[in-house]
Amino acid sequence: MTKQPHKSLAVFPNGVSWTPVDEALEHLRLSLKPILDFEFINVSDSLDYILYEDILANRSNPPVGNTAVDGFGFAHQSIKNKNKKLNLCVDRIAAGDSYQGIVPQGSAIKILTGAELPRGVDTVVLQEEVTIENDNIILNTDLKRGENTRKVGEDIEKGKCVLTKGSRIRAQDIALLIATGINQIKVYLLLKIGILSTGNELIHKVSNKDSNKTLDANRPMLMNIVKKWGYQSIDLGNVNDNKTEIKTKLNIASEICDIIFTSGGASTGDEDYVGRLLKSDGNLYNWRIAMKPGRPLALAKWNETPVIGLPGNPVAAFVCTIVFGRPICGLLSGEGWLKPNSFQVPAAFSKNKKIGRREYLRARVKNGKVEIFHSEGSGRISSLSWADGLVELREETSKVNLGDLVKYIPFNGVF
Ligand code: AMP
Ligand code: MG
Repeated sequence: MTKQPHKSLAVFPNGVSWTPVDEALEHLRLSLKPILDFEFINVSDSLDYILYEDILANRSNPPVGNTAVDGFGFAHQSIKNKNKKLNLCVDRIAAGDSYQGIVPQGSAIKILTGAELPRGVDTVVLQEEVTIENDNIILNTDLKRGENTRKVGEDIEKGKCVLTKGSRIRAQDIALLIATGINQIKVYLLLKIGILSTGNELIHKVSNKDSNKTLDANRPMLMNIVKKWGYQSIDLGNVNDNKTEIKTKLNIASEICDIIFTSGGASTGDEDYVGRLLKSDGNLYNWRIAMKPGRPLALAKWNETPVIGLPGNPVAAFVCTIVFGRPICGLLSGEGWLKPNSFQVPAAFSKNKKIGRREYLRARVKNGKVEIFHSEGSGRISSLSWADGLVELREETSKVNLGDLVKYIPFNGVF
């Protein structure tokens, strides 16, 4: 990969200054704060919620010493002098039994997986490793003290931290919480993300008179990205390229949403009302980010509610959602600033690139190499469906040669 030193990003295009992706991200990371409200929910309903505080175990796991196998339990002391013969007790202990007796030294008791070790037992021999002779068992193996048993709290001790603040609850975390006696947890309220499409050309259904219109693909796409992230999406519908309509919508949305994603009209040209409004009334931080696709991306606040003004082109909207939307929503939701997972893969393509801007190419990995879509057109929705991830080329890269290692961001680490 060829890297060129670049003096300034002002080369993209000439005459205006463009903010590097990392600089814009760093500004957002430092200027946004998590939503602080919380609620209590049942652990079994907590999938994808974000923990508001560290969770300490209410109960040890396992709660008592028990056997890890079906076998015979005895005191290890009983086999100290190479003794292999133990007297078999008549009782049997199964999982869940509360056995009150004591197993005398020199004796063994039949015990089944998960059953609590009775008094007098510290070691278990597998049932396949003994021979039963009359009222005795003969051990066909050597055993260490404690073998085939699970100690109380060997997994988690009561009072120990099981999950930390900011963790997103997964199915396996629910198992851990339940096993350690936690029924209710304090979580951040689910982030509410409003999704608004803008554009006079947008329709929802095809009809004969609308042959020149565009089907609103962004809103369902963004709603479902939010769903995958485990947040709450709020469908704000779509509005025309009309200042008053957009303003009214943003006023309502900023009351009910924690963050608003709009798509379309994000530039500050004559017909780009979202961009113009955010600039005049919306505390616009930036709309000139040096990335492709992604121009124009408006980052602003409307009545203190962050707004990500995505470009209308579905590809650009999608890429900006991954690059900016994911970390911002992570931070607001309490999960923390989330950088997408990535790894280096040899390129199955070659490409010249303008220095001074970050580029994201629709890509997929095949046979250990990453290939890119045949067209870079940002209206090509088919490329998103074709791709399994993005190749990220940094500002200073001017050329990629076949076989060069490039950074690959798989979608399955993002959604
Ligand atoms: P804009 O960012 O408003 O200039 O739109 C750029 C391109 O994206 C135009 O071709 C729009 O028709 C298209 N576009 C805008 N919004 C959507 C949408 N919600 N779904 C599909 N295409 C859109
Ligand atoms: Mg438009």
